[in-house]
Amino acid sequence: MDSIAPFFEVYLVVVALLWGSSLNLAADRIPRGESVIRPRSHCRECGRVLNFVDLLPVAGYVIRGGRCAACGVAIGLTSPLVEAITGGLMLASLVELGQWPGALAGVGLAGLWGAAVVGFALRGVNLKRVQGVGPRVALGDDPRADQVVQRTL
Ligand SMILES: [Zn+2]
Repeated sequence: MDSIAPFFEVYLVVVALLWGSSLNLAADRIPRGESVIRPRSHCRECGRVLNFVDLLPVAGYVIRGGRCAACGVAIGLTSPLVEAITGGLMLASLVELGQWPGALAGVGLAGLWGAAVVGFALRGVNLKRVQGVGPRVALGDDPRADQVVQRTL
C-alpha cells in the first residue's frame, strides 16, 4: 500500500460520514415536504441554527451530550447511528476489498443505505397517515426526539 492510500481512505470515510449527516436531514425534511437546502439546519424546538460542532457527524452528538446546546432538548440516537453506519459501510468496504474496489463498493452501499433511510422515513409517514395520527418523520422510537435537530452540511 503506498503512502497516499491511508489519506485517501480516511477522506472517503469522512465523506461517507458527511453523507450520513445529509441522510438524516433528508429523512427529516423530505417526508414533511420541506426543502433539503433551506433553511439552514436548526433545532426544531428552539430554532437555534446549528454550528460547526453540532454538525460534526457522530462527534457533534457526543460533544453535545445528545442534546441541543441552547434548549437542552434530546436529539435522539437515530442521527449519530445513521452517520456511524454510513461511515462504517465505507470503512468496512475499504478494509475488506482494498482501495479501489472498496471505494466503489462503499459508494454503492452508502447509496443503497441512503435510499433505505429515506424510504423508511417516508414509510413512517404513510403508516401514521393510515392510522390518522398525522405525519411522523424519523426512524427512531421517540418521534419527538428525532424531529428536533435537523442536520445539513
Ligand atoms: Zn434547541
